[in-house]
Amino acid sequence: MQFILDIMAFLKVENVFFTYPKSNVAVLDDISFNSNEFEFLSIIGPSGCGKSTLLRIIAGLIKSTSGKVVLDNHEITGPSRNISFVFQDFALLPWLSNLENVKIGLASKNMPDYEREKIALDMLNKLELTGFEDAYPNLLSGGMKQRVGLARALVSNPELLLMDEPFSSLDELTANSLRYAVIEVLKDRKTLPKSVVMVSHNIEEAVEMSDRIVVLSSKPTSVKKIIKVDIKRPRDKGSRSFRNKVNEIYSIFAS
Ligand code: ADP
Ligand code: MG
Repeated sequence: MQFILDIMAFLKVENVFFTYPKSNVAVLDDISFNSNEFEFLSIIGPSGCGKSTLLRIIAGLIKSTSGKVVLDNHEITGPSRNISFVFQDFALLPWLSNLENVKIGLASKNMPDYEREKIALDMLNKLELTGFEDAYPNLLSGGMKQRVGLARALVSNPELLLMDEPFSSLDELTANSLRYAVIEVLKDRKTLPKSVVMVSHNIEEAVEMSDRIVVLSSKPTSVKKIIKVDIKRPRDKGSRSFRNKVNEIYSIFAS
């Protein structure tokens, strides 16, 4: 069964090694894992182990030293319009309005501007930003900035959504409501990403959101373990099954 799932996997990370040029310290040391269609996968690991590096390799933004990444049977060799990225620090353009920032997500689509605008407005609405279309990002709270970042990433209907610690620069209450918003938006899987990979250093967050969690070691980084989170949704953080899963991952993380 596992063999068939591996062959059919939507995203395959195969024997990825990486050392930054001009540095002789190996960062990624033979990373392999798969993600299936409609799966939410998290990657957790200690600070500096190479999570952001790995996500950039998956996005085609940097090239692995060896190994490959395959999305829907096509090897990723550079940036792709099928892949969207959500950054920890939002990465919004301050001289553009929120609506214009979201429209950037549609820049590669061949469509008239009024259509682009309509799709962007719809996505802003889904993320509860109606009324803030013409405002500039600097006037928004961190949580709202990240809603714009998410809208920009989702508006192009990407096959793969990559998120690098998307909630970690937000206070806990804001992060919670944004996690909920993401879970809600992702429920509509007819139109939205087939696969989501999120980097996190927050074990509870990973257990709350993911179908599986890839736990990485420290440098030179390898996969310690891949854990399935088979807890019914919506997940109750106070439940025994939730606490047990968090504890299980803590002990692997710390081992
Ligand atoms: P994480 O996201 O897990 O905290 P990173 O992927 O940002 O880790 O970084 C992994 C390692 O690579 C770190 O030790 C970091 O210092 C190093 N590193 C990151 N970017 C560069 C770079 N541009 N050149 C050289 N080393 C880098
Ligand atoms: Mg990082």
